[in-house]
Amino acid sequence: MDHQATFNLLDLDREALLELLAARGDKPFRATQLMKWVYHRQVIDYAAMTDLSKEFRAWLSERVCVDLPSVASDQRSRDGTRKWLYELADGNCVETVFIPDGERGTLCVSSQVGCPIDCSFCATARQGFSRNLTAGEIVAQLWLARAALDAESTGQQVTNVVLMGMGEPLLNFQAVVQATNLMTDDLAFGLSKRRVTLSTSGIVPAMDRLAAVSDISLAVSIHAPTDSLRSELVPINRKYPLREVVAAAKRYIGADRYRVVTFEYVLLAGVNDLPEQARELARVLRGVPAKVNLIPYNPVDGIHYRRPDDATVDAFRAVLQAHGLVTITRKTRGEDIDAACGQLVGKVQSKRRRDRHVEIRK
Ligand code: SAH
Repeated sequence: MDHQATFNLLDLDREALLELLAARGDKPFRATQLMKWVYHRQVIDYAAMTDLSKEFRAWLSERVCVDLPSVASDQRSRDGTRKWLYELADGNCVETVFIPDGERGTLCVSSQVGCPIDCSFCATARQGFSRNLTAGEIVAQLWLARAALDAESTGQQVTNVVLMGMGEPLLNFQAVVQATNLMTDDLAFGLSKRRVTLSTSGIVPAMDRLAAVSDISLAVSIHAPTDSLRSELVPINRKYPLREVVAAAKRYIGADRYRVVTFEYVLLAGVNDLPEQARELARVLRGVPAKVNLIPYNPVDGIHYRRPDDATVDAFRAVLQAHGLVTITRKTRGEDIDAACGQLVGKVQSKRRRDRHVEIRK
């Protein structure tokens, strides 16, 4: 029966929490109090929430848990990058990376255990897909990272979140939206919508659905200027071809002239790094308020691609800039702990794993 159901508080954005409390006749301020304890003060023990009534606390203890994964490993790179492996309740693991950069601290969070997209160059793809994360499991990555950084009093903070860890966030739509709602809610993490970025391989209908319910920033993994090459690298391109993806990106930002879409382009030596391909990319992106992030390939064991040399990367960037595109080359961070872009692998316990793809690193 439904009245016995228990909830993970981290699964509930403000609206869902209000609804749950309203169903038992509570006033909205209860939600405010509870969220402030959990997200602002980082307190999850109801007994310590002294401004809540005894009756409310008793009900919470019975019906609402705060589920946090355990930390299976915690690694630090020479350059300050940090990688946590979190173990979920069912034994699956996901990785989360913190990248400090001056005042800024970017947390790269995962949205799925593994990934079904199968990009030819990506480490996560090789472990196959196990399952979607719940909203609470996505939120917990930020909750735990922030708590760990605060406890260390190093002054490091999460100022930005990117959904660029393991998984395709738009294939886990509902949970990702709930989680990002909490990330941008003042009663929870309070990050500005410009500082929460979802990266997608280009699931066109879900890009439109997202535009209807959210205004977080969007990044699109483009990686090639033609359909034939993109289909090879990002197989979902056969379903949602390049031009449709670019058109959906343009619709996403609509008429707001202060917004841009970030296009990510992993540079693979001899595959997609020619100046002619940069010119073609500029043509494809014409008319879209765009910024390009070039990501020189981070090598993955057992995958044959190579990173182009610096001169090739610079030349590619110069062509895009000459076409008026703001282009940056993403620095490689955390390479010594396999925390760089596209190097994340968790650990899959599910029986539904695609065994031929499983790779257990830890
Ligand atoms: N599924 C989402 C999030 C993926 S990770 C997406 O496709 O956008 C974020 C970025 O890292 C993507 O652009 C992805 O293509 C890129 N990436 C994956 N493997 C990489 C590697 N080995 N080196 C550099 N970038 C990589």
